[in-house]
Amino acid sequence: MPPNILFAARPERWDTYRAPLRTALDAAGLRQAHLAQDIAPEKVDYIVYAPNSDLQDFTPYTRAKAVLNLWAGVEAITGNKTLRIPLARMVDPGMTASMTEYVVGHVMRHHLGMDRDIMGQDGRWTPDAPPLATQRRVSILGLGTLGLAAARALTGLGFPVTGWSRGPKSVDGIATLHGSDGLREALRNADIAVLLLPDTPATENTLSAETLALMPKGAFIVNPGRGTLIDDDALLAALDAGHIAHATLDVFRTEPLPRDHPFWAHPGVTVTPHVAAETRPRTASEIIVENIRRGEAGAPFLHLVDRTQGY
Ligand code: NDP
Repeated sequence: MPPNILFAARPERWDTYRAPLRTALDAAGLRQAHLAQDIAPEKVDYIVYAPNSDLQDFTPYTRAKAVLNLWAGVEAITGNKTLRIPLARMVDPGMTASMTEYVVGHVMRHHLGMDRDIMGQDGRWTPDAPPLATQRRVSILGLGTLGLAAARALTGLGFPVTGWSRGPKSVDGIATLHGSDGLREALRNADIAVLLLPDTPATENTLSAETLALMPKGAFIVNPGRGTLIDDDALLAALDAGHIAHATLDVFRTEPLPRDHPFWAHPGVTVTPHVAAETRPRTASEIIVENIRRGEAGAPFLHLVDRTQGY
């Protein structure tokens, strides 16, 4: 029997995803699949899901085989006790490319000191050439799909890159570290730190007053990971003290970032509104449908979340 696929995301996303999902289903030989925003729960086989949808109780979905998340971040769903079936997160080549562009762009901005040129058109000729990338150490906290892609792009430009992950890793051309000693070393070596960790209990306040103090004076931070990775007050204090030169932040503990949050007005902070890497409907639909194809073939799902670890 063709599978019933429930699209459980905000209604406006339906217009964005319906056609690419249909195209991907057709291409995967699943032309007969029923894809809709409303299907009787007991008839649903797969749930294409965005955590900000109205669906929060999975109990009635008695025959569903998997929840296929449209987002890479899963912190809003891992704790859902009604979810007892496999949960796959989004790993989307379009999203990865977008994150790589964001990270490279903001790292290059800080590395080249572009603000000085863009905002300092003051008639003074001050020929301070920036160092080469080979002299600017970048540490990437989180060496998963997104961290690794960014690391590869930055090493390609000549930056010496250190990556930090939960478990040990070996990656050509990148120094790899793990564990709490590894974090300390990664931060001591971070002229620029890029945060691409998930939001889990273990990653909260990865950058705290204590760990920020390990970074070299004048270091930069780029955080497109999650807002919880940074202790906001500690970051503001480190910026005010001149210890951290600038932080580019795409993600926040509360989103949208409240209008009265000090990050908006701080000269050492650039706020971007969670735009580093959107899920791209065409490529994401192919990933979702590949998992449906696997589910129908009895093959293991891709990109399963380890809910004990929270990512
Ligand atoms: P992955 O799951 O592929 O990678 C996560 C990485 O973090 C892994 O290297 C993992 O280590 C590491 N990690 C997890 N917990 C710890 C820990 N306690 N200590 C040290 N390292 C840890 O995720 P992605 O790369 O796909 O995405 C990363 C995050 O980026 C997402 O969780 C999301 O929060 C954020 N994101 C932001 C977007 C935006 O637009 N701003 C868009 C998409 C994602 P190990 O390799 O050992 O498992």
